[in-house]
Amino acid sequence: MFYLLKCFIQMKTLLNNIDLNEALFGNSNIGFVPTMGSLHDGHISLIKKSLKLSNKTIVSIFINPKQFNNKEDYKKYPKNIKKDLKILKKIKVDFVYLPKIKDVYKDKNKIKIKLNKRDKILCAKYRKGHFEGVIEVMTRLTKIVRPSKIFMGEKDFQQLLLVKRYVEKNFKSKIISCKTIRDKNKLALSSRNTHLKKNDLSKAGKIAKKLIIFKKELSNKKNLKDLIFMKKNELKKKYNIKIDYLELRNTKNLRLTNKIKNAKIFIAYFINKVRLIDNF
Ligand code: AMP
Repeated sequence: MFYLLKCFIQMKTLLNNIDLNEALFGNSNIGFVPTMGSLHDGHISLIKKSLKLSNKTIVSIFINPKQFNNKEDYKKYPKNIKKDLKILKKIKVDFVYLPKIKDVYKDKNKIKIKLNKRDKILCAKYRKGHFEGVIEVMTRLTKIVRPSKIFMGEKDFQQLLLVKRYVEKNFKSKIISCKTIRDKNKLALSSRNTHLKKNDLSKAGKIAKKLIIFKKELSNKKNLKDLIFMKKNELKKKYNIKIDYLELRNTKNLRLTNKIKNAKIFIAYFINKVRLIDNF
């Protein structure tokens, strides 16, 4: 009966904060999936988890200017709103929130985010100001939406840990982490993959496969630091890519480690001018 009812309830599109407050009034156990749009199966897996675990699910599509450390990258970020809305309707999301910049940033109360020195690693080191922008927008969106749960992907593991630490300290919302979804070639799905040509996509798939196998091989080896250093050089030469980092880090606090237990390999690299990140 409940299922039948749900089939007839239309997804509501919320274009501003007045719409949002009206729609969410009186609801509890709200699941929130923040996205920048150009939705793929990675986003959809987060949304499905929210639909399962929440009374109402709200998905936001907002390309946050503050988290781009490069203007061109911001301008070129893929957009596909018509297709996104179709997907969200089909999977029966309750609400889609499409705020304008002023809806998110009109609360002029200053939010000053400062990363600790020990957090300035991986992408925080290579994309100056990026995570400050991510944490600020997540703070603002959490204040606006007031969800019980926020669903985020392990694909962006550093982002997940930083946002979890910050949001759970300041709000009642819980961050729910969701597994990385990959295509048939093992490449992690990402909106930015649409910028890649066919042969670059296949190259990125090969790199992902290599790193999955490499991680398994590390489990019975010593001197992991040296092996990782060698793998970095091998990938650079074989695939002609620029690598920002290839590092083994503990999954709890992202410290560098030489042990495979509770660790992940983190990579950020460029194929042509497209920057890809992943972890294994
Ligand atoms: P984005 O639209 O890229 O800002 O991503 C929105 C959310 O989807 C973030 O929590 C991401 O970590 C998550 N996400 C992106 N790609 C994937 C993926 N391949 N698998 C799982 N989650 C993902």
